Amino acid sequence: MPDIIQLLPDSIANQIAAGEVIQRPASVIKELLENAIDAGSENIKLIIKDAGKTTIQVIDDGKGMSETDARMAFERHATSKIRSANDLFSIKTLGFRGEALASIAAIAHVEMITRQSSEEIASRILIEGSEIRKQEKVQAMTGTSITVKNLFYNVPARRKFLKSDPVELKHIMDEFQRVVLANPEIYFTFHHNGNEIYHLPKGNLKQRIVGVFGKNINDKLLPVNEETEVAQFSGFVGKPEAAKKTQGDQFIFVNKRFIKSNYLNHAIRAAYEDLLTKDVFPAYILFLEIDPANIDINVHPTKTEIKFEDERLIYNYLRVTIKHSLGQYSLTPMIDFNVDHNFAYKFSGENTGTPDSAGMSSSRSYPLENEVNFRSDYKKNTGWEQIYQGLHQMNTPDVPAQEVKTLESEAFQMNFDESLPLGSGNLKEPYQLHQTFIVHQIKSGMMIIDQQAAHERILYEHYLEVLQNGEYTSQKELFPRTIELEPTLSSVLKNILTAVNAIGFEIEEFGHHTFIIHATPSGIDNTTSIENIIEKLIAQFVNNLEFELGIEENLARAMAVSAGLKKGKKLEKTEMTALIDLLFACKLPYKSPSGKNCFIILELDDILKRFNQQ
Ligand code: ADP
Ligand code: MG
Repeated sequence: MPDIIQLLPDSIANQIAAGEVIQRPASVIKELLENAIDAGSENIKLIIKDAGKTTIQVIDDGKGMSETDARMAFERHATSKIRSANDLFSIKTLGFRGEALASIAAIAHVEMITRQSSEEIASRILIEGSEIRKQEKVQAMTGTSITVKNLFYNVPARRKFLKSDPVELKHIMDEFQRVVLANPEIYFTFHHNGNEIYHLPKGNLKQRIVGVFGKNINDKLLPVNEETEVAQFSGFVGKPEAAKKTQGDQFIFVNKRFIKSNYLNHAIRAAYEDLLTKDVFPAYILFLEIDPANIDINVHPTKTEIKFEDERLIYNYLRVTIKHSLGQYSLTPMIDFNVDHNFAYKFSGENTGTPDSAGMSSSRSYPLENEVNFRSDYKKNTGWEQIYQGLHQMNTPDVPAQEVKTLESEAFQMNFDESLPLGSGNLKEPYQLHQTFIVHQIKSGMMIIDQQAAHERILYEHYLEVLQNGEYTSQKELFPRTIELEPTLSSVLKNILTAVNAIGFEIEEFGHHTFIIHATPSGIDNTTSIENIIEKLIAQFVNNLEFELGIEENLARAMAVSAGLKKGKKLEKTEMTALIDLLFACKLPYKSPSGKNCFIILELDDILKRFNQQ
């Protein structure tokens, strides 16, 4: 049998390799722009035709290439950016594989003109399908211009696979945005079919963001700036109210390289907590500067994935950093600062991730000024107090009817006659609907409160505060009870027993997964058995562990869920009134800790509209 194995010709090997690196015009643009940036350019022009299918040209004023390098640049694995495997761990450039130009030249018609500033004359090189067609000397400015025509001309399957111009253009815009956001100190322009799409003079990051997304974004951003032991974080996050229904405008850069990381997205999302509903996405443009030795960018050829040496640490720091930015804007409650502090404490190496009482005691000592600041700021900025005022006065039975009426809108007085026989009782009193909601009249219309969500919010804030200032009240059991738990739950409870007792339980470990309950926090719903509450509490705590909330916050949340009122529970009027009062005494009454709305308001105007009366 003759030997049958042969080396592939370069042109075919390059074409195969190109499949990895170049999927569409946007990939070419990304590679060319990155090369221009790596070359130290201050001005970069991108000019394309037909969404890059016909022509892509990138012109830069960077350092250019020598005559030989101009040829070498198109060889596979030819790069000036790393010399040895060791360099892989200290990469400061965007490119390093030496694959892009070789790949592009394998599947397109390429012209490159390049000149170094030390040279009088430029080189021009023409390549088609990896074959050099021409190399000559020409007159040109310092820098490099690369024109890529007829992409995939020799790979018909690929060419066919390209999407419509608008779709390809969208991909290009995405790549372009990533590049320009990471490099505000470079002047970029972008022309498509003769029209200027972007004109971005050099500036600071904020100016660049405004240049890319428009002026409207200007007052929707909160700055991020934090230096930690693992990374430096900077950039901007969107205010919660600017969050969108679609997941756009989310950018994370590590050492100026755009990366995709669901894990870090989750960290950012977690920082917003209940400031956002589940169906909206916050905007962010964030930069992480990390020692290249602690990351591995060599994971995927298109290089949007990245490995961190300690991903969890980055996660926690990122989350805390964003919380801090949101907190400075007076939106996250004071307690979050304590959680932050708790994390900071853990990072210092004291805690390996399993919750223990060490984290707690540190957070207790956190100064309380934040609370004061937060509260005053917060109330200044919101309108709920006003709603509540109206509500409170209406709730007070002593207030004479006449006085109550003056609180109400004119529309109301004109259209609503209280003497009408509309069922029993005083309509100003809260009313329970399906043993699930509380309906209540307020100044501007009516409010519908979700009893479960509301009670969770109340308990959550209450227990956080208890954990914070260490002042709990408990109720002694007349006959101490024992409870036997599953082994996993039992080991968790052992771990967090100090904290659990700090909210008013008095639970003693008795060995063999058994615990004795001497006392319970006062005020917990006595219709559910205490064993049940404890079991739920621990299960919920375990569930929450993935969010890495810190022991106090986790416990408060778990307590809120396990001891909270449930749907289907009948409430007396006094209980409803108390619930409303307590809810509006909360710092963030809008949402339950898990993000459910605690109440909605139906405005009279809207009700009238629905009756076609306005
Ligand atoms: P990589 O960027 O991974 O090194 P490329 O194939 O993209 O590989 O480029 C190969 C080499 O060509 C680069 O290492 C660089 O030396 C040179 N080069 C490419 N584009 C430019 C440019 N715009 N200006 C100067 N040099 C360039
Ligand atoms: Mg490159």
